[in-house]
Amino acid sequence: MRRHARMGVRGPSRPVRTCVGCRSRAAQSDLMRLVASSGAVLPDPAGRMPGRGAYLHADPRCWESAKRRRVWSRAFRTAQSLDTSHVDALFGGPARVGGAPGSR
Ligand SMILES: [Zn+2]
Repeated sequence: MRRHARMGVRGPSRPVRTCVGCRSRAAQSDLMRLVASSGAVLPDPAGRMPGRGAYLHADPRCWESAKRRRVWSRAFRTAQSLDTSHVDALFGGPARVGGAPGSR
């Protein structure tokens, strides 16, 4: 069964946000909310933490891109550098490659 894409069936409010990593727009439900709190970027999967939020695809590439471009000052309206290790841990990536021995 195919649904007809009729005008107006999309509903009045399907929030769209911009991913801070790749800058593309996506449904809010497809993005992960991040908030800045106590000098750190924290994931907010429930979307209920207070404060200014930023949205990101749950994709390590978007995360890396956001970090590289230092989007926080604009996304969170802060000049301070934020601790991103919480989100690094979420993606499970080695954020700080301190020279892992024996990988060659
Ligand atoms: Zn993205």
